[in-house]
Amino acid sequence: MATAGKVIKCKAAVAWEPNKPLVIEEIEVAPPQDDEVRIKIVATAVCHTDLYHLFESMPKEGFPAVLGHEAAGIVESVGAGVTEYQPGDKVIPLFIGQCRECRFCKSPKTNQCDKGWLPPPDRFTCKGKKLLQFVGTSTFSEYTVVNQMAVAKIDPTAPLDKVCLIGCGICTGYGAAVNTAKVEPGSTCAVFGLGAVGLAAVMGCKAAGAKRIIAVDINPEKYEKAKVFGATDFVNPKDHSKPISEVLSEMTDGGVDYSLECVGNVEVMRSALESCVKGWGVSVIVGWTELEDFSARPVQLIAGRTWKGSVFGGFKGRDAVLQMVKDYLDKKVMVDEFITHNMTLDQVNDAIELMKHGKCIRTILTVSPQGNEHCRKWKDQQKVCGHSPQLMQAAPVFVIGLTLIRLALSANLVSESPVVKQHGNCREGKHADFSHSMIFK
Ligand code: NAD
Ligand code: ZN
Repeated sequence: MATAGKVIKCKAAVAWEPNKPLVIEEIEVAPPQDDEVRIKIVATAVCHTDLYHLFESMPKEGFPAVLGHEAAGIVESVGAGVTEYQPGDKVIPLFIGQCRECRFCKSPKTNQCDKGWLPPPDRFTCKGKKLLQFVGTSTFSEYTVVNQMAVAKIDPTAPLDKVCLIGCGICTGYGAAVNTAKVEPGSTCAVFGLGAVGLAAVMGCKAAGAKRIIAVDINPEKYEKAKVFGATDFVNPKDHSKPISEVLSEMTDGGVDYSLECVGNVEVMRSALESCVKGWGVSVIVGWTELEDFSARPVQLIAGRTWKGSVFGGFKGRDAVLQMVKDYLDKKVMVDEFITHNMTLDQVNDAIELMKHGKCIRTILTVSPQGNEHCRKWKDQQKVCGHSPQLMQAAPVFVIGLTLIRLALSANLVSESPVVKQHGNCREGKHADFSHSMIFK
């Protein structure tokens, strides 16, 4: 590889400050050191945890940073001591590592690897400043460097612009249902929050054989999608004056067997617990927040309910991601159905706005082309899934709340988007220059 051992200059979306749009910059990505892998990111998606860092938790020491953690790419080069990965391998970076050697990795009970949350490599600089690598992955960049413990090799035939979602949202929700809650056949479940994480939880409940899956969200635009993944009932807390736990209790003769909180709100966590039936109900916290403590009456647990939490669906990343990608290729799990928008890395702020306003499930950002074949496929996709029909219907509501500039941009997105123009390079056979143009040897 011509770039191995050298600094790569490439494009990345930099979060210079909290609560501000990301800025597309040229950054320097240092070569991988011992046990590290440098990855060319092909596609990445936006997850609510990126928004949490940027707009909600906003830790002072957490900026400037490169966000992004739900991605797929191709190994560009490896550092000393890396034997499992080679340049050209298709991989998914992991935000929680798996060393395979510690007490926790050796136990089947958990994915909490002792080295899973080690400080990130931090191989990024921009304008002389160090950029932090958010959760060790930083996939809003053409190249990133991760520890080899945080890399999952996947089937080389997998479409990276789809399976990138397996790097966070899909495993997180699905695993929360099957691994953490351990949903049983014939049971009744409630899933709070119907973003990609919640919808994957619905899919997990269905796969585990749940007979009734109650989808709870304050945004009714999400219900149609939830049906696709197996939801049987829909509840909007805003339609009820009494607590949602009472509504669910009445619907289910005393409460659900399993509830999953996929919002990241301590009040909803409590509601999810209180929606469980006494005696055996299990509630799993999946939504992310460290901003507030939660509370509940001890009698809720004394009466036999169990309250649990789940990171990355309890999956051990290196093993599970490989398997989940296989399951997708074998049509055992849905992935494409989560994708509502396709854009490029340059449009990351638009993708963030869509999520902020509840107008997407997942937006895939193309970061680098996979090759000619991918470009052809990508153009075909644009014809059919630039925006889903459901979201097209929702578009007028969305634009009312936005500025005129945003309005103009939205109009652009539903017709000939800048993405299409950029990918016009592929049509002219110049795509090879697209991502390498900024690499200086
Ligand atoms: P999202 O923003 O796409 O979806 C959140 C959904 O919750 C939206 O549909 C929203 O309308 C709904 N919602 C908001 N308030 C609600 C309320 N009071 N009651 C019911 N529904 C409500 O987010 P996402 O990407 O699906 O992520 C969901 C959560 O999961 C976030 O907190 C994210 O940080 C967290 N997360 C956790 C892990 C983990 O490993 N535990 C991994 C990834 C994401
Ligand atoms: Zn995520």
